[in-house]
Amino acid sequence: MSLEKPPPPALHERFPFCARCGGRIVWAVPEGDNRHRRMCPGCDQVFYENPQVVVGTVAFSGPRVLMCRRAIEPQRGLWTLPAGYLEAGESPADGARREAQEEACATLRLRGLLGVYTLTHINQVQLMFLGEVASDVAAGPESLEVALFTRDEIPDSDIAFATVRWALDYAYAVKDQSHWAVQERHKDARTPMAG
Ligand SMILES: [Zn+2]
Repeated sequence: MSLEKPPPPALHERFPFCARCGGRIVWAVPEGDNRHRRMCPGCDQVFYENPQVVVGTVAFSGPRVLMCRRAIEPQRGLWTLPAGYLEAGESPADGARREAQEEACATLRLRGLLGVYTLTHINQVQLMFLGEVASDVAAGPESLEVALFTRDEIPDSDIAFATVRWALDYAYAVKDQSHWAVQERHKDARTPMAG
């Protein structure tokens, strides 16, 4: 194995010890692998850092779109789509519906996958669906308020994340079509936040 300087995400400065044997973790290429990993030379445990999956929905009620004002950091107070981390044992669609239920007390009917957004700087892949609101809505515990905005009413300068803007723009472009191409976009540390 070859040794090299630590990777930009300073995970092993924050978590320098092996969860298995307590040994000190190094940044190295494990035998038979082709890239650097956090690994423990004491017990050969490799700690893979695969991307986390976020699932969410652009959900319409007629011309209006369901948005939530965040009650939690990051970006507290700004507007987002109902979305969150996929849980173990859950399909992306089930996760997207669960997030809408939790954040907006909303039952959704999903129409299909809208976008796949890869955010390499935060090691995240977002799967955004296009859907419809099939219930009343109300703020859940992670939302300060929820709203159904027409396109003109969307508070453009108070949108929490670039990917929310991407998903909204693309959803409005294709919402009246029965089929659409899944939008693939990529963001890294150099992409402006406002996207
Ligand atoms: Zn170890």
